[in-house]
Amino acid sequence: MLRLTDLKLPLDHTPEELDAALCARLGVTPAEVVRQAVVRRGNDARAKAAIRLVYTVDVALADEAAVLARHAGDKDVRPAPDTTYRPPVIAPPGWDGPRPVVIGAGPCGLMAALILAQMGLKPIIIERGKAVRERTRDTWGLWRRSVLTPESNVQFGEGGAGTFSDGKLYSRIKDPRHLGRKVLTEFVKAGAPDEILTEAHPHIGTFRLVTMVMSIRDTITALGGEYRFETRVDDVEIATAADGTRHLTALHLSDGSRLPAHNVILAVGHSARDTFAVLHARGVHVEAKPFAIGVRIEHPQSWIDRARYGNHAGHPLLGPAAYAATHRTTSGRSVYSFCMCPGGKVVAATSEPGRVVTNGMSQYSRAEFNANSGLVVDIDPARDYPGGPLAGVEFQRKWESAAFVAGGGDYRAPGQKVGDLLAGRASSGDFGLVKPSYQPGVQLTSLDRCLPDFVTAAIREALPVFGRQIPGYDHPDVIMTGVETRTSSPVRIRRGADFTSVNTRGLYPAGEGAGYAGGILSAAVDGIRVAEAVAQAILAPASALPEREISA
Ligand SMILES: Cc1cc2nc3c(=O)[nH]c(=O)nc-3n(C[C@H](O)[C@H](O)[C@H](O)COP(=O)(O)OP(=O)(O)OC[C@H]3O[C@@H](n4cnc5c(N)ncnc54)[C@H](O)[C@@H]3O)c2cc1C
Repeated sequence: MLRLTDLKLPLDHTPEELDAALCARLGVTPAEVVRQAVVRRGNDARAKAAIRLVYTVDVALADEAAVLARHAGDKDVRPAPDTTYRPPVIAPPGWDGPRPVVIGAGPCGLMAALILAQMGLKPIIIERGKAVRERTRDTWGLWRRSVLTPESNVQFGEGGAGTFSDGKLYSRIKDPRHLGRKVLTEFVKAGAPDEILTEAHPHIGTFRLVTMVMSIRDTITALGGEYRFETRVDDVEIATAADGTRHLTALHLSDGSRLPAHNVILAVGHSARDTFAVLHARGVHVEAKPFAIGVRIEHPQSWIDRARYGNHAGHPLLGPAAYAATHRTTSGRSVYSFCMCPGGKVVAATSEPGRVVTNGMSQYSRAEFNANSGLVVDIDPARDYPGGPLAGVEFQRKWESAAFVAGGGDYRAPGQKVGDLLAGRASSGDFGLVKPSYQPGVQLTSLDRCLPDFVTAAIREALPVFGRQIPGYDHPDVIMTGVETRTSSPVRIRRGADFTSVNTRGLYPAGEGAGYAGGILSAAVDGIRVAEAVAQAILAPASALPEREISA
């Protein structure tokens, strides 16, 4: 099988034109093509008048060696990679050894648990939040009735932080073993649409994520895995051996029980602030890490479609347009768009009472009126929150509390129009052309009340720059809501090449909360890698994993 990449065709081409372009590019006749399959389709919209679809196609040919020889040195004609997933170890039938424990049922923990279950290791999954259906009711409780359930919300519960999201499923991680493909294949088995396997920028939307998470649970339990919902890990027991090595020995759970555990995947996400504090107090190596803070910004989706696709706006093959924008300020800060949600909503994403946090989600159809994305500024421990491993958490809390107050103290978000922010005055009165989608509501005010000065200054500098790239981006009526503080983890729980904590054996920090992922796909891929390390430690302890860590 050959893989042909970067095959470009006009937007409205026919299937026959794709076949013809493929044959022309490879220099073969249709009779020489045994079979073909599109493995990726994206678009190139840099020239709005001539948007093209860009294909990657796997092709089986009668004489592949000859074609490869003719295209030697052609970076777009290569042997197709083998993307089959092969677990490094499998438990023998009837195996009844120690069960690994996974803390957290987000994308990382779920994929780790699934892989462990498929390897025959019957994991125990501990999740502080509720099963996903009940969790959905609690999450809506904040959005519709301003009632926050601290253990069951956008951040906590089965499915993790990505459940009420746009479900974007792409990532820029290096993935030489094609583990992302394994994740997407499992998602399709669990009910995701087949197209996620071929779209360059696939997304699922919230409703499907909920049913997929339940389907993955069924698979894990059918393979002998066990879930414990509404059970939080409150503490860890660590024993120190004669040679000074520290080993995790047990977990203390919120139901008062003690669970002996020697192989624990810690996939708690970026909002498990209490868990970070406990680990730090128990001497587990935790360090502060950079992240980003800012606001959510909303535009009518039609403005973004027009800016990106011109006269092709609304074309069914293009769908609602996304964008990405970055700017380096004169003070050396990066300002960038983050987690863009075409045709979506801004959502209340706090997990702590008395705080306001924004994020974005959409349904599969991406049919809501507004586009939204984070507009965030990079921050780092040395410059912005010196003071120890947990200082980033306190920095987040400070601004989230300020946002709660600025929003009126009832979980409405503080908001400001772009024209007012640029003019240095608070917003008041009515919304303009752009109505905010955030529920339970938006209080017009000044975002200077709930963000550091350097953040609003950087946003002021970036808005006109982005407005030149995306017409309408800095329209005076465009609305911003805050604060967007949970862009990634404020800590890293450092691990070594064997995937265990650098100073606590048996503890495997994983996913976004540990600082090793930044999104659904990268968290799920990290879950596979860590599950493999755990399985090897249990089943084949002598064989060390040769791979190095990846960073998101
Ligand atoms: C609203 C929203 C929209 C998003 N949209 C996208 C998107 O479109 N695409 C994308 O790639 N990413 C998106 N993200 C980010 C994505 O959700 C995260 O990167 C991803 O979920 C991280 O996965 P994780 O498994 O590492 O952690 P999480 O998903 O955060 O899961 C951690 C789990 O651990 C549980 N937990 C925490 N502490 C404990 C404890 N002490 N004991 C037991 N259980 C515990 C939590 O309840 C939670 O279920 C979005 C996030 C949000 C909030």
